[in-house]
Amino acid sequence: MSINQTSDLVQRSLKSVWHPCTQMQHHESTPLIAVSKGEGAWLYGFKGERYLDAISSWWVNLFGHANPRINAAVKSQLDRVEHAMLAGFTHKGVVELSERLSGLTGNVLGHVFYASDGASAVEIALKMSFHFWKNTGRPLKQEFICLKGGYHGETIGALSVTDVPIFKSAYSELIKGTHVVPSPDFRVQGDSTVETADREQTSLQAAQKAALAVEELLKERAEHISALILEPLVQCAGGMAMHHPYYLTRIRELCETYSVHLIADEIAVGCARTGTFFAFEQATPAIWPDFMCLSKGISGGYLPLSLVMTRDSIYKAFYDEKITKAFLHSHSYTGNPLACSAALATLDIFRDDQVLSANKILSSKISKGLMSLQNDKRVKHFRNQGMIWAFDAVVEDPAKRDTFSRRFFAKALEHELLVRPIGNTVYLMPPYILSDDEVGLLTQRLHVVFDEVMGFD
Ligand SMILES: *Cc1c(COP(=O)(O)O)cnc(C)c1O
Repeated sequence: MSINQTSDLVQRSLKSVWHPCTQMQHHESTPLIAVSKGEGAWLYGFKGERYLDAISSWWVNLFGHANPRINAAVKSQLDRVEHAMLAGFTHKGVVELSERLSGLTGNVLGHVFYASDGASAVEIALKMSFHFWKNTGRPLKQEFICLKGGYHGETIGALSVTDVPIFKSAYSELIKGTHVVPSPDFRVQGDSTVETADREQTSLQAAQKAALAVEELLKERAEHISALILEPLVQCAGGMAMHHPYYLTRIRELCETYSVHLIADEIAVGCARTGTFFAFEQATPAIWPDFMCLSKGISGGYLPLSLVMTRDSIYKAFYDEKITKAFLHSHSYTGNPLACSAALATLDIFRDDQVLSANKILSSKISKGLMSLQNDKRVKHFRNQGMIWAFDAVVEDPAKRDTFSRRFFAKALEHELLVRPIGNTVYLMPPYILSDDEVGLLTQRLHVVFDEVMGFD
């Protein structure tokens, strides 16, 4: 396509497509990029310009764009069957995927229910939890607990357990009330601008304090509470708030004591993003939630696929002669074979390339490249968990803070990077396939972009 045709495509998009998570008017000053192809960590425009996808296209793309192995799996599935309904029918892909995912939990979470998007997986977990209590004679348990700054998607039900005002406030009248407990985010303890050696200690204290608040609430209200939902280790969309794994251990104990389900939303942190395949694996001793939601990376970033895993004991409470006891949630594309084939190919890559251990090396290389930011006076709370890095830019002027994210995004594009801060929190969530050269390019240019944006007048 010529330059004129490309800008024509952008103009047509602005005329006909309502883009997500965007004030469309901002596109009068913020660029809209037309993508012609993707390859590895890169997205390409039509004129040969390229962008290193340092946020995995909203955290979904794990092994690069147009990955040959995932491509082959989807193509081969396409020639067999593209889709068949999953009520009354089954197919090999969905069976294998369920077995392999359950296997990754030591078969503790032995049943898998499928949907397409993350928000729906959250809705399903909420409905299952509520319905479980009804089926087992405890219909008073109708309320949910979520964490301050937590994000679980944006359908009406998922918004009810989301605590990110920019997504929620406009719809408050439509949304059922939820108990919001303090975040275990380590940054709530003190506000130091310098990196302290006792991050571990600060973080543990924050987790203990936050868990106490949950205990108080459960003491009082557990009879009415169905489930607590959280994002294990990193509250992502709320601004990459990280917490100590102690929190998971303690919340699991409390949920057990007070007969409240624990829903782990691993939609963003699952699939090795935090260093283990499931973030929850970092809780000690080895424990599992009652429900685990997975989406985003599970299909390698190829196709919309989400799922909820749960325990056999929960599944059994629905197993009955009566239809009303069943979990009747019906979604047209449940267990879509193409999406399952992409997910199975993704799991194959994890296994064949020993991705978990390879990522440890990759993660330390990226951390090294970002080291100077840790002591930068313009940076607060530099943090890292597995394949997630984040820091808060110190932007005093409120007007500049408001536009920080957009300015950073535009400036990064000029330097061939796709980075899209959340407010003044800059983060990286790159795909797991960066070469040494790409790590160098990413970390060096991130510094340059940061310098330019911070020097903005
Ligand atoms: C992205 C996300 C969701 C919602 O997933 P969608 O596919 O965008 O609906 C839910 N929970 C978490 C933790 C997420 O990061």
